[in-house]
Amino acid sequence: MTKLQAIIFDLDDTLYSERDYVLSGFQAVADWAAINLGIEAVKGYATLANLYFEGVRNNTFDRWLTLHAIDRSDLVPTLLDVYRQHIPKIEPFPEIVEILKTLAGSYQIGLVSDGYLAVQQRKWTALGLDAFFDAVVFSDSLGRENWKPSTAPFKLVLEQLNILPEFSVYIGDNPRKDFLGARQLGMQTIWFKRAMAEYGTLEPPGANYHPHLIAESLLQVLSSIDRLNL
Ligand SMILES: [Mg+2]
Repeated sequence: MTKLQAIIFDLDDTLYSERDYVLSGFQAVADWAAINLGIEAVKGYATLANLYFEGVRNNTFDRWLTLHAIDRSDLVPTLLDVYRQHIPKIEPFPEIVEILKTLAGSYQIGLVSDGYLAVQQRKWTALGLDAFFDAVVFSDSLGRENWKPSTAPFKLVLEQLNILPEFSVYIGDNPRKDFLGARQLGMQTIWFKRAMAEYGTLEPPGANYHPHLIAESLLQVLSSIDRLNL
């Protein structure tokens, strides 16, 4: 096995809990609705959070308006704007800063993240991790067609780090998109498969979508990196 030179991370549900972002956005929507629709903020937030914990992932705001007896589907785009444009209150997983400090001594550190550019940038600013990273790539800056599993954002981050794919590893949480493109380039891959993660129970949709290694905690991610380096 070749010696690793770069560790490249996904963002959502890899460096912080995506659930915290969702709940932070719901709070912003509830605050907006308190002012503009007269829905009491505490109640509005509670019904949104309940929908989420019940597993609702589509048409959430439509269903939420109905629950509050507001027959106004035309408001949904505005609610989505409030959600996507809010300043998120999110924090990195507790172990992340120590791990990044440890890794930064031996490796170059990179990020490849999907999602709407402005939304991802706001998350990135809120997390305050930028100083640890040598290269940060938001795939949306290359166009929607270059979101993962496209190889394009991985090529770009490796170019910025000046590292060959075989000397790098990508760590992500979503087997539907995190490992295919990275593997096609020849990168190593690790699935951070946390028990409470949004995509932790998904199955890779095909043989090429599997990671090289699976880690169920961030400490296991660290030992997996060591294993790849043997
Ligand atoms: Mg993710």
